[in-house]
Amino acid sequence: MDSKPKTIVDSYGRIHDYLRISLTERCNLRCFYCMPEEGIAIRDKKEFMSTEELLFIAKQFVALGVKKIRLTGGEPTIKKDFSNIIHELGKLPVELGLTTNAVMIDKYIDELKAAGIKSINVSLDSLKEERFNAISRRNYFNKIKENITLLIAHDFKVKINIVLIKGTNEDEIIDFIKWSQKDKIAIRFIEFMPFDGNNWNWEKKISYKEILEEVTSHFGFKNIEKLEDSPNDTTRNFRIKGAKGTFGIISSVTNPFCDTCNRIRLTADGKLKNCLFSQSETDLLKAVREGDEIESMILKNCWSKAKERGGYKSFENTEIPNFNNRTMVAIGG
Ligand code: SAM
Ligand code: SF4
Repeated sequence: MDSKPKTIVDSYGRIHDYLRISLTERCNLRCFYCMPEEGIAIRDKKEFMSTEELLFIAKQFVALGVKKIRLTGGEPTIKKDFSNIIHELGKLPVELGLTTNAVMIDKYIDELKAAGIKSINVSLDSLKEERFNAISRRNYFNKIKENITLLIAHDFKVKINIVLIKGTNEDEIIDFIKWSQKDKIAIRFIEFMPFDGNNWNWEKKISYKEILEEVTSHFGFKNIEKLEDSPNDTTRNFRIKGAKGTFGIISSVTNPFCDTCNRIRLTADGKLKNCLFSQSETDLLKAVREGDEIESMILKNCWSKAKERGGYKSFENTEIPNFNNRTMVAIGG
């Protein structure tokens, strides 16, 4: 009998033990870089995983060695069965995390704790009310700020995700870092990534180098500490000396971290994507509904994962590639 634990491995030897599950494609915000203004087409409920199907599929991944699950979307907290889903996933032997816009997070503090969720990533692209509301095309800035304060007060490990876009919010890099000096939060600057219909172009990205140059010129080289990054970390982490929190840079476009990638994604409609940028998907939900086993499908999909960026050699030429991929909101960031 083969007693070796099963793992999801690709042809480059990367082991995949981190699953991001999108609970819904829908959202209560309309961030322009993620979601079309008019929202996305409403699809029949039957096209999406039920809670039972989601739990069944999640358990198959855990049996294949997944140790970390992060819930995302769309906005995961607007999912009707959110409390029950986190309660059930909380019983699995995994580290459970959540990525949210935090508009509704105050309603779930006790449930999050009971499910063992400690790490919560919150998106907040500007510290200026009017600007944030313009980016997200809704008016929840104050609610989100209050909820972030609430999460910190309840000792959650809070990371703040900021998609930096030239001409939109790049003048706030220093203000965000100053926030990390006062509060125990991890600020994370994310490069703007190209997805279907989000008007990405190379000129709008702010590179790792540009961010560090600005931070160094403001705070001084001697006051910036480089922190040790964990092996699969997508963020390069730093701290301003004496700060309560940290800041980091996720440079998916200019300096991708594909070599150590351990992530796979399950969309709300039950498709496995082995990379944010991969165009091919494996329909696990259909297979489950037809009574087929999905273990070999998962292993086969991941084995074929491209070396870098879902197979795109580079995003460097100024021409926008034909991505033929979903919008970010339909993938699950
Ligand atoms: N609604 C939740 C939220 O906003 O945190 C979870 C889903 S959202 C798609 C997950 C993350 O993807 C957010 O941090 C968001 O900023 C990021 N994101 C969305 N579109 C992006 C893009 N085009 N480039 C880079 N990051 C993006
Ligand atoms: Fe919604 Fe998050 Fe996308 Fe903003 S980034 S539209 S909050 S899913």
